[in-house]
Amino acid sequence: MTKLIPYGHQLIDDDDVKSVIKVLKSGWLTQGPTILKFEKKLASYVKSKYAVAVSSGTAALHLACLATRIVPGDEVIVPTLSFVATANCVLYCGAKPVLVDVYEDTLTINVEEAEKKVTKKTKAIIAVDFAGHPADWEKLKKLAQDHKLILIDDAAHALGSRCQSKMIGSIADLTCFSFHPVKTITTGEGGAVTTNNKKNYDRLITLRHHGITKNENVSKKYGGWFYEINELGYNYRMTDIQAALGISQLKKIDKFIKIRREIWQKYNKSFDEIRGLTLPIEKKGSFCAWHLYPVRFNQEVLGIDRKVIFEKLQTEGLGVQVHYIPIHMHDLYRKRFGYKAGDFPVAEQYYKEVLSLPLFPKMANAEINFVVKTLKDAIR
Ligand SMILES: *Cc1c(COP(=O)(O)O)cnc(C)c1O
Repeated sequence: MTKLIPYGHQLIDDDDVKSVIKVLKSGWLTQGPTILKFEKKLASYVKSKYAVAVSSGTAALHLACLATRIVPGDEVIVPTLSFVATANCVLYCGAKPVLVDVYEDTLTINVEEAEKKVTKKTKAIIAVDFAGHPADWEKLKKLAQDHKLILIDDAAHALGSRCQSKMIGSIADLTCFSFHPVKTITTGEGGAVTTNNKKNYDRLITLRHHGITKNENVSKKYGGWFYEINELGYNYRMTDIQAALGISQLKKIDKFIKIRREIWQKYNKSFDEIRGLTLPIEKKGSFCAWHLYPVRFNQEVLGIDRKVIFEKLQTEGLGVQVHYIPIHMHDLYRKRFGYKAGDFPVAEQYYKEVLSLPLFPKMANAEINFVVKTLKDAIR
């Protein structure tokens, strides 16, 4: 194979192209009717009352923090094993992300460790449904109730996942999704926040659009142009072009997830017998819309370094990746908060051993077989 098989890739078909062209010809490129339509369909899919579409998953996280009124002086508990945006959104609000380790099996936030980090300043917890595996939302809900904390779900990996038969997107106070091309569905760039709370919804809508509010009665009194700004907002709007793609992609999500799960099962079956590999498992009560297929390579058992395996696979045409460098190991976080190597042993050990294998709905059978064979050869 000459072309690199990436770890993730979008699947765009003719219907997607048609929906986008339709909007391009409609006259409404942004702030039109397609956004609301996408939001309604997304909310209905995740069984949440409201959805607010935004320009990225990172914007979704920032808005969720703002809607929660996270301000300087507050602390927010965040797992160290995630993409850095999960913690950066807390910094955007001038608050302090307090990092914690993850569980060995699901790689989601260790709730017992999180509880130890709760102080008077703690306002919220952001949990990540890592690789598509739901965090332990039952434990998180109890912890949040006991300490009056807001729960935010970074579900960038987990659109379509379920926890105890509840859809991700309907569980936390606010759930954030990303529609980057490697994620479950794509709008190019894009994201959304879902919530069951009307007050959160109203704030998200306002903050997405510069903090502008318009009250019909007040406008009648002062003039039709009149609007108010009471709070600093942003331009985090999604375009109607993106929303059209989102609607079209959402129609196919069940198919996408089915294929993702089939590939996951196929890999699990193929690598099951190999000593020294740890494969992603689905815990009882969870349904995973696998975003990643992370494999751990035990260096002692295999007698080969992860870096060497990475390079071998890349040379053979597998675009494997490492998800993620733990957040506390980035200079920004080390220098600002004094984190150091050894602080979070589970995440650090995982980081030393892991590679994500290609997993996306567009994968051909021949490509899946090629991944299996190439990996087996590389560690033989
Ligand atoms: C992709 C991702 C984000 C950010 O989403 P963007 O749409 O790229 O801004 C946040 N958190 C996690 C866990 C992600 O994987």
